[in-house]
Amino acid sequence: MGVYFDQVPFSGIIRIRDMMYSVRDPFRLDQGDVSFDAPDSVKAAMHRAIDENRSHYLQTTGVPRLLDLLAEKLRRKNGIPVGASDEVMVTTGGIHALYVICRALLEPGDEVIIPDPEWPPAAGNILAAQGVPVPCPLHERLGWRYDLDELASAIGPKTRAIYINSPNNPSGGVLTREDVERICALCREHDLWLISDEAYEDVVFEGEHVSPASFDGMYDRTISFFTFSKSFAMTGLRLGYLAAKDERLRERMKKVLFYSAGNVASLVQFGGIGALEGPQDSIVSFREELKCRRDLFYAGVKDAAGHVLSGDPPRGAFYAFLRIDPSWQPPPEITTTSRSWGMTEFLISKGRIGCVPGVDFGLNGEGYLRFCFARDRGELRGALESMRTLFAPR
Ligand code: PLP
Repeated sequence: MGVYFDQVPFSGIIRIRDMMYSVRDPFRLDQGDVSFDAPDSVKAAMHRAIDENRSHYLQTTGVPRLLDLLAEKLRRKNGIPVGASDEVMVTTGGIHALYVICRALLEPGDEVIIPDPEWPPAAGNILAAQGVPVPCPLHERLGWRYDLDELASAIGPKTRAIYINSPNNPSGGVLTREDVERICALCREHDLWLISDEAYEDVVFEGEHVSPASFDGMYDRTISFFTFSKSFAMTGLRLGYLAAKDERLRERMKKVLFYSAGNVASLVQFGGIGALEGPQDSIVSFREELKCRRDLFYAGVKDAAGHVLSGDPPRGAFYAFLRIDPSWQPPPEITTTSRSWGMTEFLISKGRIGCVPGVDFGLNGEGYLRFCFARDRGELRGALESMRTLFAPR
């Protein structure tokens, strides 16, 4: 592919990460990482794996015990009619699952409809496979959901797949059961694949998480992917997984997996077994704590900067996607023409507050900012105090 990769963008989140390194005592609300640590069951399983010298090559798609546990989880929790465990494969995180899916599914020029705003690696991975991401807006007035007629009208002769991500990063929008049903109907009607990114399946505060592959006949045309990053606070360990019924596609995905990773790191896979065999209560306690942090953060923003930043609390995921009041003007030394970049530079340089400009998630995100409220309460309070000082009427 060579020079083609010059056109594949790097996420602005990385640019911000680099900016944040020059800030002393920063509030890292820019990164989508939780402040929790992985449960003891994960750590104990990894320790055991070290002691047992589990440091050798493994099956390409994952250790059988892990695949069995995942197949069982997908059937029981997601209602996906997974047959044999070889319909599941583990990947080096969710981002790698999407890379594997796109490389195996897309021909050059194939279009994939993605939400706008959306986590930047969605478009990046489609482009990396020489596909074409076609953004379709999520609307704030609909709780950051689609206008489904608009989604239908985005389908054209080159559309190969629809990629959905519910709960959505960055907006926190959660699709309803009816939304998912209609999207499934569109896929059947137009003979499309559905790529379902369920990274935040366990972070739903209001409403329910619905896996489209659980709907009648949809498992045949849906590739669902998940990650341990958010549910088990394992972001750095890099463990994700996907499920697909189509055998030919699976054979291709297995090759992409092999040529890009060999196999997922052995110790990490044993950590995944520990996560699934151990108590599941951390999933609930993480969600409860995240809900408290969401409420703390929204109340704090309203109080400290309500005349500048506003929005309704999200129903899922752990981001505040806030609208910048049109009357806000950056100080003269900030010369960028993008409003969301201007505010981001202002908050980082004057308030030590990390955030991500909405435009980094798509053109529809311009005029918004994303803050991650999965940071600990002290860090959130620090950022809010800093906002209060920055936005105090003069
Ligand atoms: N999908 C979405 C929407 C995400 O926000 C993320 C991570 O931020 C992922 C997938 C993948 O996460 P990871 O690669 O850490 O498993």
